Amino acid sequence: SITVEGLTKRFGETVALDDVSFEVPEGEFVIVLGVSGSGKSTLLRCMNGLETPTEGEIRIGDTPVDEPRPDIAMIFQQHNIIAQMNAYSNALTGSLNRNTFLDSLFQRQSEEDKLQALDALDTVGLLDEAQQNAQQMSGGQQQRVGIARALVQDPTILLADEPVASLDPGSSQQVMGYLRTAAADRGLTAVISLHQVNLARKFGERFIGLRDGKKVFDGYRDEFDMDVIDDIYGDIDTEGM
Ligand code: ATP
Ligand code: MG
Repeated sequence: SITVEGLTKRFGETVALDDVSFEVPEGEFVIVLGVSGSGKSTLLRCMNGLETPTEGEIRIGDTPVDEPRPDIAMIFQQHNIIAQMNAYSNALTGSLNRNTFLDSLFQRQSEEDKLQALDALDTVGLLDEAQQNAQQMSGGQQQRVGIARALVQDPTILLADEPVASLDPGSSQQVMGYLRTAAADRGLTAVISLHQVNLARKFGERFIGLRDGKKVFDGYRDEFDMDVIDDIYGDIDTEGM
C-alpha cells in the first residue's frame, strides 16, 4: 500500500500541496483530479521520489520513499519515448535498471526481458506494431508504447501524470482503457492524474480531488456527484470535459 501522510510541498511562497493525506491499498486504481495548478504533478512527483516533501512523508508499505525506485513506474504527459527506435526497442528500455549500459548498447538483454517487452506490447495492443518506428505512430500509440515500457520495468506501483492530456477524446479513452486493463491484469496499484471529469468517471473507481493544493475529496464512485465536482472545479464549466 501507499501512504501519504501530512504532505506539504512549498516552492518559495507557493504552496503546491497543503497537508495532503491518504492511503492507497494494494491493487487499487485511483484517479487524482484537479484543475491546472491544483498540485497533481507535484503530488505524483513526490510519490515517485522526484520531489522532496517540505513536510510529511510518503511510504510504500513501511519504507519511506526518498528517491526514484524501480518498483514505481511513472508515465508522463509527454510520452518521452525515443522517436528513432521501434516500439519493441522502446519497450525494452524499461528493463534498463536490470541491465548495465553496455548490455543495453549491445542488446544483450536476457530472453526473459525480451519476452517481457513483447508481452507488454501485447497488453497495450501493439504486438503487430512492434517493429514500427515510434515517430511513425500516432500520439495514442506512442503513449501506449510508454505504458509498455513502464510495464517492462515490472513495477508494483504505476503512477501516470496526465497520460492523455495531449490526446484527442477517442485516443484518450483507448489509452485509459489499456492503463486500467494493464493495472488490473498485473495487480498493480495505480494513481493516475487527469483533468477531464468525464474520462475520470468512465474509468475511475476511487477519486482524489485537489484544489489549490488541498485534498477536497477522497471517495469512491457512488459518492462522486455534482457537489463534489463543484468542490473540485469551482466555477469552471466541466460540461464536455
Ligand atoms: P497542470 O494541470 O497545469 O499540470 P498541476 O495540477 O499538475 O497543474 P502542479 O504542477 O503540481 O499543478 O503545480 C502546483 C503549483 O505549484 C502551481 O502553482 C505551480 O506553479 C507550482 N509549482 C510546481 N512546480 C514548481 C516548481 N518546480 N517551482 C516553483 N513552483 C512550482
Ligand atoms: Mg501537472
